[in-house]
Amino acid sequence: MNNSRSGPRPVKFVGSFQCVVDLPRHGAVWEFAFIGRSNVGKSSLINAVVGANVARVSNTPGRTQTLNLFNIDDRVWIMDLPGYGYARVSKDDQVRWLERLEEYLTNRNELKMLFILIDSRHGIKESDKVILDFVREENIPHTLIYTKCDKKGACKFEDGIMTSAEKGTGIDNIRALIYG
Ligand code: GDP
Repeated sequence: MNNSRSGPRPVKFVGSFQCVVDLPRHGAVWEFAFIGRSNVGKSSLINAVVGANVARVSNTPGRTQTLNLFNIDDRVWIMDLPGYGYARVSKDDQVRWLERLEEYLTNRNELKMLFILIDSRHGIKESDKVILDFVREENIPHTLIYTKCDKKGACKFEDGIMTSAEKGTGIDNIRALIYG
């Protein structure tokens, strides 16, 4: 077992869930959730942080709409929340997505921190603002994570963590927040 503070730890896939009420409870263990626009690099970042290929990395956006839960070393749980900002999603589905997200963010007692992923080439978009406005209004602890900072055209942002899953930039900063 790797017990170093910032290194990878054993990870177990807990399951994929459609509804917030179906999520298993785990009491005293903290949960950290990741969310972002489709293609922001969420799967790549989760994989880099946990040090294993647990979240799917794909170039075909719009496939994962379930709440995917991982258990890291029985110490923390990681929630991979469905992405947003897909071009071909109906208004009804968008409303359902937002209702489920709000239900998760307000009812999940285990939630310690929401990581909101932003592409460092594009900055905060309207669809990100919907979530940011909600978490600020509801005082939900959150951290901005800027992704793909290795890419040409990436900007430097001061209000969050600059990361590159590809180069490993900022991964230890996220691990430090998660593992304490
Ligand atoms: P998701 O849809 O948000 O889960 O995004 P993915 O993790 O599937 O990544 C979307 C695309 O961006 C893939 O082609 C990845 O290889 C690429 N990507 C993800 N993270 C990085 C990064 O840090 N740097 C670079 N250059 N590309 C990345």
